[in-house]
Amino acid sequence: MLSQTVQDALNDQINTELGSSYNYLAMSAYCERQNFLGCAHWLQVQSQEEYGHGMKIFQFMQDRNSKVVLKQIAAPRGEFNSVVEVFESALEQEIHVSERINSLYELAFKEKAFAALVELQWFITEQVEEERTAREIVAKFHMVKSDPSAMLDLDRELAGRMAAAAATPAE
Ligand code: MG
Repeated sequence: MLSQTVQDALNDQINTELGSSYNYLAMSAYCERQNFLGCAHWLQVQSQEEYGHGMKIFQFMQDRNSKVVLKQIAAPRGEFNSVVEVFESALEQEIHVSERINSLYELAFKEKAFAALVELQWFITEQVEEERTAREIVAKFHMVKSDPSAMLDLDRELAGRMAAAAATPAE
């Protein structure tokens, strides 16, 4: 069984992932209001993916006969100055999540929680991808500045994100 320290940290991470899901959902709603429907779609798929991350840890804890403790999720930020700011905020969030995963990995290592280390390796790899994607979108928004036709192209590009991996923890 996982040590109490590791269980506490994993429960906190479930909260972070579900909080992340909630944040993306609020970002999606903002983009929808601004008529950036492609962005809204992309963020909604991302929200589902974060839910999947939370559920992956949720399931892992139960597989390890540990006690899942769900905590309160804070109300997400719902107002932004622009769609660009939404994605800048998304990038900041992903950097924060990566730091948390790294600390969690360090803790699991100290606690000799080897199964948790293997589980967390997936998350470390995933965070590299999450940060890269968010950084790329922010860069594209900065490139197009406020050129309306380029903004619409970018919105259309984001509309193409597949929801296939959504809602089920990716393996
Ligand atoms: Mg995540």
